[in-house]
Amino acid sequence: MAGSEGEDRRKDGADSGADVERPARDRRLPAPPADLRDALLAHYDRHARPLPWRADTDPYRVWVSEVMLQQTRVETVVPYYQAWMRRFPTLETLADAPEEAVLKAWEGLGYYRRARNLARGARVVRERFGGRLPADVGDLRSIPGVGEYTAGAVASIAFGRPEPAVDGNVRRVLARLCDRPEPTAGWLRDTASTLVCPERPGDFNQALMELGATLCTPRRPACGDCPWSGWCRARAAGTQEARPLPGRRAPVPLRRIDCVVVVRGANHRSAPRLLVRRRSTEGLLGGLWEFPERVALPGIARGVPLDPVRHTFTHFRAEYRPALVRVEPGAEVAVDAAAGPTRWVTPAAAARLALPVTQRRILQAALAVLTEG
Ligand code: SF4
Repeated sequence: MAGSEGEDRRKDGADSGADVERPARDRRLPAPPADLRDALLAHYDRHARPLPWRADTDPYRVWVSEVMLQQTRVETVVPYYQAWMRRFPTLETLADAPEEAVLKAWEGLGYYRRARNLARGARVVRERFGGRLPADVGDLRSIPGVGEYTAGAVASIAFGRPEPAVDGNVRRVLARLCDRPEPTAGWLRDTASTLVCPERPGDFNQALMELGATLCTPRRPACGDCPWSGWCRARAAGTQEARPLPGRRAPVPLRRIDCVVVVRGANHRSAPRLLVRRRSTEGLLGGLWEFPERVALPGIARGVPLDPVRHTFTHFRAEYRPALVRVEPGAEVAVDAAAGPTRWVTPAAAARLALPVTQRRILQAALAVLTEG
């Protein structure tokens, strides 16, 4: 378990005999933790954004919001969170939901592994913890998809445990407060543990994240409005934008992907059917549907190129180069079966599938061509 403030607290040597315990002086920090806490929480109490997941501290709701907020902006998350809570209002409803419905509710948020892990995690919580999320960070971390950050966030926000929760925003704020060019994970954990408010750990962690999201932004931080501006070492040194130093990034390769929207029965009396394939449930975009890549078509089939669709994934950039190909109703179409099950669906049914954002754009382009005739 991370150290509580009490464990980290040291008395100043000169006054070690005094009866009243003085606020800790920690050389890492430019001010006593209590002063930093008070200033940050007072600012948060005045300026906290009224976000839907702040309405209560129900552990399931906190968990879902924290997972959605990973790598995703608050404004993007709000409508997804509200729709999710209508669709899966309790951990039980999520544990019972088919994966397809879970992925559909996540469609467009990206990093779909998070959604699959939430559903898997809900079932683990039901089996192992009687349907109630545990309060202990060690127990929380045994749940699929719950790492150090999420465990700390849930423990502090939902259960009032004085645990640190270090995300990218917190890393930036602490690096600047202490003017650390390259904060290590251990340093960040220790510093956040020392700072976290024992009385209001959840509010404190949210306040710290919000400071990074709203004022202590990567570029041009609004130091004039910051509750820590009087103490901030990076501000004093003028090094804010150089803290923390950017990591060396590996070049992101470009991958070109030729895919085919095969349309059967278009221009005939029957409704057209589109060929889609479900990706394997593990790995990138697992469990979502797509237009297949390797397709053996009848020799006479001619393709109409659709506009390329570009997307940046974590480790590569993708350029999809789709083509629309019409085939006769009984035509033989062979697809790499090992890559996942295929299905012929009407355009309306295709639109209801859980599709990654790139595949939805390809579908829209294909439907525009089909509508034109
Ligand atoms: S003073 Fe500026 S750099 Fe320092 S924590 Fe506040 S916003 Fe960030």
